[in-house]
Amino acid sequence: MIVANWKCNGSKAMIDEWFQSYKKVVKNNGICDGFIGIAPPTIFINEVYNQIKKNNLNIDTISQDIAGYTRKFTGAISADMLLESDAYSFCIVGHSERRISYNEDNKIIQDKIRECLSCDINPILCIGETEEENKHGKTKEILENQLSILVNMAITDSLTIAYEPIWAIGSGKTPNPKDVNEIHKFIKDVVQSISTKNLAPLVLYGGSVTDKNSESFFGEEFVDGALIGGASLDGTTFAKIVNIFNTTKKL
Ligand code: PEP
Repeated sequence: MIVANWKCNGSKAMIDEWFQSYKKVVKNNGICDGFIGIAPPTIFINEVYNQIKKNNLNIDTISQDIAGYTRKFTGAISADMLLESDAYSFCIVGHSERRISYNEDNKIIQDKIRECLSCDINPILCIGETEEENKHGKTKEILENQLSILVNMAITDSLTIAYEPIWAIGSGKTPNPKDVNEIHKFIKDVVQSISTKNLAPLVLYGGSVTDKNSESFFGEEFVDGALIGGASLDGTTFAKIVNIFNTTKKL
C-alpha cells in the first residue's frame, strides 16, 4: 500500500501535471498489494478524483483528517460529509502535525477513529516518537501508549497503521530499515493483542521516503508500504516509488 499525503500543497495546474507524469511512468497501472492512495487538500478532491476516473487509474482518494463526533467545529469535515462524496473511503488520523499543532491528544484521536469505524471509513492511524524519545530508548513505550486508544474498539481489518518517527518527517533523516522492521513487528503484535479479532494490521513506514531509499524499506518483511509526503508531490517520483514497491514485494 502506497499513500501520498499532499498536506497543504497543490493547485489545479500541479494536479494536471502530476497525473500526466504519473501515468507515463507507472507500470501495470500500479496494481499492488493493498492500494495506492492520494490524500489531497479537501478543496482539490474533485480535481484529483476526476483525473483518476478520466485516466482510468488504480488510485483511491483519502481524506487528510476527520472531525471526530465531538468536534464538529468551524472548518472541520465530518464522516457524514465524507460519505456523501464518492471520493472518500479512507482517512488519515493522528498525523503528528495535527497532534502537535492542533493539540490532538489520544482522546481526540480515539474519537476520530470511532467516527471512521462507525461510518465504514478506513482509518490510517499515524503514530511515532520524537527524536528525544528515540534517543532515550522510549520508542516502544510511546507507540504502545498511542496504540492504547484501540483497546475496546471494534477494530476490523480496515485499520492501517503508519509508523512515522516525527524526527524523520520532512527532515531527510531516516531510521535504519532493520530497526523499522522490528518496530513494525512490534506494532503488529501490540494491535493483535488488543484486537478482539486477533487482527494484525498493515503497517506503513513514513518519514523522508524517496525513490532513492524506498527499496531499502520495502525489502523488509513487516513493511507493508509507505506514507509519503514531500516525494509524493511529483507524479514521476511517486510513480517510481510505486514501481519499486511492486518489484520489491514481487507481486
Ligand atoms: C508525512 O508528512 O506523513 C511524511 C511522511 O512526510 P515526508 O515524506 O515529507 O517526510
